[in-house]
Amino acid sequence: MTQTEAHRVVIVGGGAGGLELAAKLGRKFGPQHVYLVDKAGDHIWKPSLHEVAAGTLDIHREGLSYFMLAKDKGYTFIFGEVTHVDRDARLIQLKPVFSDQQVEVFPARSLRYDTLVLAVGSKSNFFGTPGAAEFAIALDSTAEAERFRLRLLHELVTANRKKAEQVDYALNIGIVGGGATGVELAAELREACADAVFYGLNSLDPQKDIQITLLEGADRILSALPEKMSAAARQLLLDRGIAVKTSVRVARVEADALYDAQGTRYPVDLCVWAAGIEAPAFLKQLRLDCNRVNQLVVDSNLRSADPAVFAMGDCAQVPWDQEGQFLPAKAQVAHQQAAFLLPIMAERIQGKEISQRAFRFRDHGSLVSVGHSRGVGSLMGVLTGKNWFVQGLLARLMYMSLHLMHHLAILGFARTASLAVGRLLMKRGRPRVKLH
Ligand SMILES: Cc1cc2nc3c(=O)[nH]c(=O)nc-3n(C[C@H](O)[C@H](O)[C@H](O)COP(=O)(O)OP(=O)(O)OC[C@H]3O[C@@H](n4cnc5c(N)ncnc54)[C@H](O)[C@@H]3O)c2cc1C
Repeated sequence: MTQTEAHRVVIVGGGAGGLELAAKLGRKFGPQHVYLVDKAGDHIWKPSLHEVAAGTLDIHREGLSYFMLAKDKGYTFIFGEVTHVDRDARLIQLKPVFSDQQVEVFPARSLRYDTLVLAVGSKSNFFGTPGAAEFAIALDSTAEAERFRLRLLHELVTANRKKAEQVDYALNIGIVGGGATGVELAAELREACADAVFYGLNSLDPQKDIQITLLEGADRILSALPEKMSAAARQLLLDRGIAVKTSVRVARVEADALYDAQGTRYPVDLCVWAAGIEAPAFLKQLRLDCNRVNQLVVDSNLRSADPAVFAMGDCAQVPWDQEGQFLPAKAQVAHQQAAFLLPIMAERIQGKEISQRAFRFRDHGSLVSVGHSRGVGSLMGVLTGKNWFVQGLLARLMYMSLHLMHHLAILGFARTASLAVGRLLMKRGRPRVKLH
């Protein structure tokens, strides 16, 4: 860097953590210091992807444009996928970007950094299960969630036609993984499919003819969360006619069925894989410590062994307070890490030594949405240090407020409020499920 060049913080990944950091840092220091790189043009809060998949949330209306936010929040946005980091030259390399018609929009480029923050999230881990990558859909991005939605519409139309011809036909949807993603998707699909009959698919009896099965390898769903929560969620799913199979490890996926290790066959027309995560593979090429799911190993300052490289959110392995444990891959963690990194990045930009801090995760509990009027959750230590359990509409409202808090961190109060009111009003004028 020459004397006149500004210190450049480059944040790769504008997700739950990266975008919050870029917006807050950009507001303070401006676009010559703060760069955000993302392979997508629009941001969507990843915990909403199950709603995109079910068609109850329209990405074209709900997505926030990184370009638009760049002007408002004062960061420079670079559109493209990072494939390589040259730590010696302090350069990141980006793939060329092509339009839908395969016309090159941006060539392959490289971008200089002084400080690099990797916030590239995670994707589904198929654990080498034969057929999983080929036949199952993973809700890793808006593009994948949209792909699922279109497949679902196609399958519903096909099922409706077959049902009109053949009395005992049922559409089978299999969801592998009974964590928050699988549970939320199962409930959302049940509600979205129930609405489909009002849109002309009236040969179907959604409760009977659309069978949703959730398969989980552990002996209970939501196994990382308190038992009370998993029991409540299980009951809510069963009440909705969703089959919950625990202690079932899927060993093979085929076009029309899933098989467990004992060879039991579970027929599926549509399969979602939501069992486990891994960080993007390019992180392994950085010649820094990575764990077996490609997460970059960082210290409690979120710094890697290279003092210019930080990592946060799902792509980082961060020690937890409990001996030998690491922080879970949660939006709440990414959100708190963005706030933690803000003063550290400010010190980097100002050329100061970074003060010794240690990231402490304050676990406010977990909330899981089980459809539009229900939720289950466990809130920990919010007021008294006790563990609170909430259910029903209150839990659902609290769940929705998490999304609002994310918008608040990015957009500020006035814009979040007007956006929320605008969306509420628009919802009244369009179908609940996106059909086209
Ligand atoms: C369906 C679903 C439901 C969930 N529900 C919950 C929930 O209820 N509560 C909860 O706490 N957590 C939930 N999670 C997990 C939560 O979404 C993640 O923990 C959180 O989003 C992680 O934030 P992040 O900033 O690390 O990464 P992400 O939010 O995943 O963002 C990563 C960003 O990096 C970009 N990117 C990736 N690779 C590259 C590259 N090579 N070059 C450029 N850009 C790149 C991506 O486009 C993306 O914008 C859910 C996840 C899913 C999929």
